[in-house]
Amino acid sequence: MFKSLKMKLFILFFFVTILPMAFVAYITYQSQREDIKQQTDQLLFALGDSAAVSLDDFIQERLQDVATIAQNPVIQNPDSDFDDIQKELKKFVELNSIYFGAIFIDTDGIITVDVDDTVIGTDLSDRKWFQKTLRGGVHLSDIYISDVIDRQILNMSGSVQDENGRIHGVVSPSFDLQYLWRRIDLFTRQQQSIGLGGYAFLVNQNGDIVAHPNQDISGRQNFFEDYDLSTEQFNHIVQNRLIYTHEESEMLQTFVKLDKKNGFENDWYVGIAVPLANIQDPLNQLLTKYLILFSCVLLIVIIGVFKLSNYIVKPLQRLVFATSDFAFGKKVYPLSTNSYHEVDTLTRTFNMMMRRLVEREKSHQKSTLILETTDNGVLSFQKDSRLITTFNRTCEELFGVKKESVIGLKIDDFIKFNPAFQQFYRCAKLQGIIDKQQFNTQFEFLCKFKDAPRYFFMSLSPLKDLNNEQEFEGILLVFNDTTDKREMEMKLNRSEKLQMVGQLAAGFAHEIRNPLTTIRGFIQLFVRSDEVSESQKTHYDVIIKEIDRVNEIISELLNMANPNHVTVHEETDIVKLINEINILYKTEAEWRRVDFRVECESLPPVWIKKNKLHQILMNLVKNALEAIQEEGELTISAQVDPTESFIKLTVADNGGGMDPNTLAKLGTPFFTTKESGTGLGIITCYRLIEELGGTMEIESEQGRGTTFILFIPIER
Ligand code: ADP
Ligand code: MG
Repeated sequence: MFKSLKMKLFILFFFVTILPMAFVAYITYQSQREDIKQQTDQLLFALGDSAAVSLDDFIQERLQDVATIAQNPVIQNPDSDFDDIQKELKKFVELNSIYFGAIFIDTDGIITVDVDDTVIGTDLSDRKWFQKTLRGGVHLSDIYISDVIDRQILNMSGSVQDENGRIHGVVSPSFDLQYLWRRIDLFTRQQQSIGLGGYAFLVNQNGDIVAHPNQDISGRQNFFEDYDLSTEQFNHIVQNRLIYTHEESEMLQTFVKLDKKNGFENDWYVGIAVPLANIQDPLNQLLTKYLILFSCVLLIVIIGVFKLSNYIVKPLQRLVFATSDFAFGKKVYPLSTNSYHEVDTLTRTFNMMMRRLVEREKSHQKSTLILETTDNGVLSFQKDSRLITTFNRTCEELFGVKKESVIGLKIDDFIKFNPAFQQFYRCAKLQGIIDKQQFNTQFEFLCKFKDAPRYFFMSLSPLKDLNNEQEFEGILLVFNDTTDKREMEMKLNRSEKLQMVGQLAAGFAHEIRNPLTTIRGFIQLFVRSDEVSESQKTHYDVIIKEIDRVNEIISELLNMANPNHVTVHEETDIVKLINEINILYKTEAEWRRVDFRVECESLPPVWIKKNKLHQILMNLVKNALEAIQEEGELTISAQVDPTESFIKLTVADNGGGMDPNTLAKLGTPFFTTKESGTGLGIITCYRLIEELGGTMEIESEQGRGTTFILFIPIER
């Protein structure tokens, strides 16, 4: 999958565009995140600082109040009675609504004056704050839970001095802590209003929670214990202005130390607590924003990259598909060139290549077609491996085997399993030719093939090696069946011979006949004369007989030489003609005890030279009777040939028949096997049938008989 160009381009683009983009996005996100964090940190500290300032002011005011009341002239005067002091204290409480009570304690620690007279007489001499205040100045205790009233209180006290600076009592106003809480709650509300959430609280150096929006916690819980903090850790956080994150409670906390005031015993720290989630919210929002933005850009880049890689890859893919289609032989149309330059060039080259290949394929098909349709047998095999590489249709027909089962076979194996080819190979003496490396020869050979002798013309040529012109890799055999041609040649040859003999005979037959007639006339005169004895007469008769025989031969010769001289074309009823022959030879047949039969169907009349056919039939019947000699069958039959253009006439006997030698010489002038034969009968028949426009075939088997078949054309 990753090997495809499309995928590779995609990965490349991914690394070139998306990765740097992701990197930039990450950096920007981180810096923005850092900014936001810093801003929140600053905000937290700003809140802490302003809370610290505000609380400082509050405490400063309270200390100021204590100093003011302690310096009241009535109270300072040791001679003032308790009622005056009470009056002054009441005035103070009424003026400052923040205070709900005030007491005056004498140097023995006994409360001598109380605004509402509830605690008069209470001994506070053991209280640390009292003892400290008695030494002078103004004091502010920590906030603690009073064992008297079971609620948080903060003790403020100031030493009262007379004119001489002698301390003669301690004044201690009580203020409502709610005011302090409200002051702190102000910051909690501020935090809520700006969306930070959380709350502000007060804690001292020991971790005691001094003030907390939750009243149940303030004064009763220890921050260090709750948040697993040591004093050192806490100091470290405060001094370095760090933000303390407590994972368990998921809160962030900052602490700002309040200024230590004169007379103030404790270190107070204002704490700002904010839920972690509230700080992380903007960060998460930022992250979401970034993710959305990044996804959009990613999508756009992916689409862009996809389109681009498609633009680059598609034309190539089209080429790849076209090439494979073409390779698998599917029809492929020329591809259009409308993409970018390089691919267009490639496409044009591809189209050109395809066109050339198609042309080549066509010409190859053409040559294959020629090879398959030619009547010549074409066979080729490799020189070294002897594997058969070509075997065409004519070969298939000749050797009766399909091309598929021969191609790729060794020629030697083919010889072994195909007797026809074995015969062919042997007759052509191919082994010898190949052994002698005579690869450029042509010759004709005779092969008794499927029982009939057939002539073949064979042409052997070397097949050049396509890679190396000098070498040749195979042997090509091209052969054709020349039997018909050969037969035609033989017929022509015979006809030429016939003509020659005819002319010769015509030339001297007349020259012999005339003196012979004279000789015969004189001999007859001698026979009639009385001077001739009886024995001499017998001799003369023999001479006359022999002269007659010579005459007969000469007539036959003349007949053959110039057969045209008397006869004319006439409408001929062949059946009638055959019956005439039958009648003519009936007596001789009976005498020889030969069953002479005629088997004819009704035939259409033919327009021929009747005499000639008559003469042919006479010759054939004569020969047949001579061949039978005594006892046998002679049949003349005639019917219309299936082609309907000839009448097929057969003269068949069951006489002695002919051996192949006689058969081969048949038709040669003066060839005879008979003691008193002329050897002109058959040759005359050939000559005559040729004149009739027909043909004659002979079938003969020694000891079984002979059949002469005449084909006489029906057409005029
Ligand atoms: P001839 O009859 O004078 O011998 P032909 O030309 O008629 O001459 O015949 C030539 C030869 O052909 C004969 O000598 C004979 O050997 C052979 N021949 C012809 N017809 C027949 C036949 N029907 N059966 C056997 N042999 C035949
Ligand atoms: Mg004869």
